[in-house]
Amino acid sequence: MTMASGAVRADKAADYKKEVIAWVDGNSGRFEDAALAIHGFAETAFREYQSSAYLADMLEREGFRVDRGVADIPTAFVATYGSGKPVIGILAEYDALPGLSQKGGVPSQQPVEEGAPGHGCGHNLFGAGSTAAAMGLKTVMEKHGLQGTVKLFGCPAEETLAGKIYMAKEGVFDGLDVCLNWHPGSGNGVHVGSNNAMNNFEITFHGKTAHAAADPQSGRSALDAVELMNAGVNFLREHVKDSVRIHYVIKDGGMAPNIVPERATVWYFVRDMTRGGVEEVYERVLKCAEGASLMTETTYDVSLIAGSYNYLPNKTVSKVIHDNLKELGPVQFTEAEQQFAKEMQENIGREPNGLRTEINEFREGGVSRASSDASDVSWIAPTSGELTTVTNPQGVPGHSWCVVSSSGTSVGIKGMIHAGKVLAMSGVDILLDESIVKKAQAEFAKDTGGKTYVSPLPQDQKPPIPERE
Ligand SMILES: [Zn+2]
Repeated sequence: MTMASGAVRADKAADYKKEVIAWVDGNSGRFEDAALAIHGFAETAFREYQSSAYLADMLEREGFRVDRGVADIPTAFVATYGSGKPVIGILAEYDALPGLSQKGGVPSQQPVEEGAPGHGCGHNLFGAGSTAAAMGLKTVMEKHGLQGTVKLFGCPAEETLAGKIYMAKEGVFDGLDVCLNWHPGSGNGVHVGSNNAMNNFEITFHGKTAHAAADPQSGRSALDAVELMNAGVNFLREHVKDSVRIHYVIKDGGMAPNIVPERATVWYFVRDMTRGGVEEVYERVLKCAEGASLMTETTYDVSLIAGSYNYLPNKTVSKVIHDNLKELGPVQFTEAEQQFAKEMQENIGREPNGLRTEINEFREGGVSRASSDASDVSWIAPTSGELTTVTNPQGVPGHSWCVVSSSGTSVGIKGMIHAGKVLAMSGVDILLDESIVKKAQAEFAKDTGGKTYVSPLPQDQKPPIPERE
C-alpha cells in the first residue's frame, strides 16, 4: 500500500466513523427501548425467549439474515449482513441472574418482584449495545458498498457458562476473521488479560437402600461415597499447582437418616489457568470418585455439564478498539446521574465517588480467577480482550441489585450506546485496512501454535434446555 492510499484510507475511515456515530446517536432510542425491554423480561439461562426474539427481530427488520435456534438452542441466533471477507463477529448476551429482581434507576434495594431474576451482570445492555454496533456498521457498509460480512451472535446462557460452549462445539463461530467483544462495567478501558479454564461436572453415586437401623448390612450408601470422594479431593488439594481451584457442593445427599441413601450427587468446579491444567486435575478428581465407589461398593456416573478454555485475548484487535475508545472519549454523565451513583454507594457503605469519567490505559496481563464461555470463542478466532464502558458506579459488587438498578436507567444506557459506537468504529477500521486482520491472524496462529479448537464437551452432548428436561 502506498503512502497516498494510506492517507486516503485514513480520511475515509474518519468520515465513515462520523457517520456511524451519527447513526447510532440518531437511533439511540431504539437501543434504549431494547435494553429496557430486556431488563424487564429478565430471563435466565436458556429461557431468554423474549429477549433473543426482540434483538433478532430488530436485526431482521434492518436487513440482516437471521438464523434462529442455532446449535439446537432455541434462544441462540446468528444475524448476518453482507458477504465476503473480512468476516467480523460481534458477541451479544442477554441472560439474567436468578433472585436479583430490582427496579431500574433506584439507588436503594427495591425488587420489582421479590426473588425474581434481574440483570445483575448488565447483559440487557450487552445485547442491545452489540446490536447497535452491528447495525451501525451495516449502515456504512450499505451506503458505501463496502465488502465484508458482519455477524452478530446472539449468545444465551453466559451465566451458566454454557451458551457459547455449545455454539462453539457446533461450529457456529467457524470462519470468523476477527471477533469483537465488550462487557458493561465500572470503567472505560480495554484489558488484554486471561481467565481460568474450567470444568463444571456432577458425580452421581448409586448404592443400595435399606433400613439404616434394622438392616444396615444390606445397604450401600451413595452418600458415603460422596463423602469419601470429597475427602480424597481435599487431600488432593495439597498436591496440585497453586493456580488450581476446586470447589463443590452436595446437591443430593439422600432423603432421611434412617434410609440408607441409594443415590447421592456432588457438583464440582475445577479451574486452572490452562485447558490442559484443568484436564489433568479433572482426571485426578475422577480417580477419587473411582476410589470412593470401590470403598463403598457403589457405582457412579459422571456428567460434564460445561467446560471452557482460558481466555486468549488478541492484542491487535484490542488495540484497534482501545484507539477508537480514546478517539470517542469517556462516557459523559450529568450531575443527576453522578448523584444517583453516589447515593447508591452510600447505601451500601462504599465511598461515594460516583461514576468514573476517565479512560484507563491499555492494560495487559493478569488472570481473572473466574471463567467465561467467551473464552472458547477466543480459541476459534482472534477475539478482542474485554472492552468495558461505564454502565454502573465504581465499587459496587458484581452480580448485585446495584448493577440491576444501573443497567435499567440512563447511566447504563449511555455506557451501552458508547460501547456500540466504539465497536462499530473498530469495525470500520477492520473493513478498510486489511493489514489489521492479517496481523491479528498472525498473532492468533502464534498464540494457538496452529492448533484447532477442540470442544471440552463430548461431541454428542445436547445443550441443557430447561423445557426439554
Ligand atoms: Zn456478564
